[in-house]
Amino acid sequence: MSFSSLGLSPLILQAIEEKGYKQPSPIQEKGIPVVLSGKDVMAAAQTGTGKTAAFTLPILSMFEGTKPAVGNSVKALILTPTRELAAQIDDNISHYGKHLNLKTAVVFGGVKINPQMIKLRRGVDILVATPGRLLDLFQQNAVNFSKVEILVLDEADRMLDMGFIHDIRKIMAKMPKKRQNLLFSATFSDDIRKLAKTIVNNPVEISVNTKNSTVKAIEQIIIPVDKTSKNNLLSHLIIDRNWHQVLVFCRTKHGADRLAKHLIKKNITASAIHGNKSQGARTKALADFKNGGVQVLAATDIAARGIDINELPQIVNFDLPNVAEDYVHRIGRTGRAGATGHAYSFATVEDKKNISEIQKLIGEVIKTEIIAGFEPSDRLGPVALKSPKPKRPKKPRTDGPAGGNAKPKQPRRR
Ligand code: AMP
Repeated sequence: MSFSSLGLSPLILQAIEEKGYKQPSPIQEKGIPVVLSGKDVMAAAQTGTGKTAAFTLPILSMFEGTKPAVGNSVKALILTPTRELAAQIDDNISHYGKHLNLKTAVVFGGVKINPQMIKLRRGVDILVATPGRLLDLFQQNAVNFSKVEILVLDEADRMLDMGFIHDIRKIMAKMPKKRQNLLFSATFSDDIRKLAKTIVNNPVEISVNTKNSTVKAIEQIIIPVDKTSKNNLLSHLIIDRNWHQVLVFCRTKHGADRLAKHLIKKNITASAIHGNKSQGARTKALADFKNGGVQVLAATDIAARGIDINELPQIVNFDLPNVAEDYVHRIGRTGRAGATGHAYSFATVEDKKNISEIQKLIGEVIKTEIIAGFEPSDRLGPVALKSPKPKRPKKPRTDGPAGGNAKPKQPRRR
């Protein structure tokens, strides 16, 4: 399948070619024609699947040659949970739309509001925004939503988690009822489905299997370790295994800062990225990490959400996430087409529950590796979790699973 068969305009096809994309990813192949047809879409796709192009390319194509947005109004609104993601989407739009004469802009918090107000004054064809700042701008009459033709909710699950739903509802209430709605989410939990019902009309549902779509292979490894040895274990692994680019997930902002300091003391270049850092510092840390200037990026989940780094040789869960779904998001950052990525999870005895929930979610048992010199002192530690229930040879049975001591079957997905 080639991009030219999807119905995009020649100028968009030219930009895609210049960007070097050879063929559409599965989400693009399925999504682009549907978006072009004007239908609502509900798509399950994670970062790394090419989902941004799946909605930005058809929007750009549809807007080509149409009447521009009038003062303070917006024709397509893309809402997204984080500043980084907003900036990336805007960046993509600039590339894909470079041969069109469209007015595009991005607004997010943490930076001055005035330049954003000025940009909005002349009207914007495609606006990328985080909900909080957008609502501020609306309340200051810098923008109105009365001309919105297309609404995109990107990473809807994240926006829900981050408590943006009220802002989103307020924004939506000001939009015309008749519009096209595109909802993208990494997962489709019950909450998201409930939210979706109030947003999309008769949507075409699209889902892509991340594993197939990115042809990624991820080797997952749990490393049992004492809490107090985690810092040294990480620096040991980085030096011993010659890791040049590793994204490390920490539970807290302070934890991320402390870890970065520890690594720097060990002559490992590192920076931390989290919500307490200024936008400038976050952008710089990300750029340094991407261009290889910094070996280690210690990040909290919130800061790491949505950021476009997903082709890493390895990631480390320095602290395991409290929510099993976050584990899946995190490990999705590693693995490249054709090369195996590695996702290491440091696990202390306190992580038992987390690990079993993660294993339940992914439907497999993660292998365990003990690193010499860092053996956990607690022998009842997570090593024991290696034990999936040992598979018993199947016996033919005549009774149903409800009887006697029958154990519930371990859930298996995919
Ligand atoms: P996304 O899932 O939108 O965050 O995209 C992940 C990465 O894939 C981005 O760096 C895109 O530039 C890149 N990408 C998107 N579509 C394609 C494609 N068809 N071929 C190659 N790379 C792509």
